[in-house]
Amino acid sequence: MTTREAAAGRWQLLIPLGSTEQHGPHLPLDTDTRIAIGVADRAAAGIADVVVAPALPISAAGEHAGFAGTLSMGADAVTAMLLEIVRTAGPEFASITVINGHGGNYAAVTAAVERCAYEGRALRAWSPANLAGDAHAGRTETSVMLAIAPESVRLDRAEAGSTASIVEMMPQLRDGGVAAVSPNGVLGDPAGASREEGVAILETWVAEVVAMLRG
Ligand SMILES: [Zn+2]
Repeated sequence: MTTREAAAGRWQLLIPLGSTEQHGPHLPLDTDTRIAIGVADRAAAGIADVVVAPALPISAAGEHAGFAGTLSMGADAVTAMLLEIVRTAGPEFASITVINGHGGNYAAVTAAVERCAYEGRALRAWSPANLAGDAHAGRTETSVMLAIAPESVRLDRAEAGSTASIVEMMPQLRDGGVAAVSPNGVLGDPAGASREEGVAILETWVAEVVAMLRG
């Protein structure tokens, strides 16, 4: 899209918010970014006035510190980044919706939405529903990645991680991050993941975003 094409519309803007963080032995570091883009692109495909911004690929991943390849900024920085984008976006954008691929950003995104509401600016956000016992690099994310980017999934290297619920693990997670509860970085178990399951999950997520855009 050129600037003149942008100026000619009243767009609903989707901003994919990803992360660069370890995803166990079998998924790539940019899993959350790919998922955010995958959901945003599919939601935008069916609606004429929706456009997708370039993805934001680094965010709040401090809980994955100590695992090679992880890049992070604090939650406050993520909130500030989103606020600045919303504050400076022009009138060609009728609405802005963050498509958040990384559960660890939930608090930062929610803070940005609340601050924007206080300032009288519309910002919405979508995050995948809380995945009980399957929070990170488990069956859900592995299935969705098999649907979005199967060439990036090393299924032969998949291993189970900790399958306790996030609530149970929270005290340890808060103090020591993922490394304290799961040496291989997985929260959940990728066993049973499939492309079919990923397509179905993706359809549910895309339908949620489309409902937000039409609602
Ligand atoms: Zn992830």
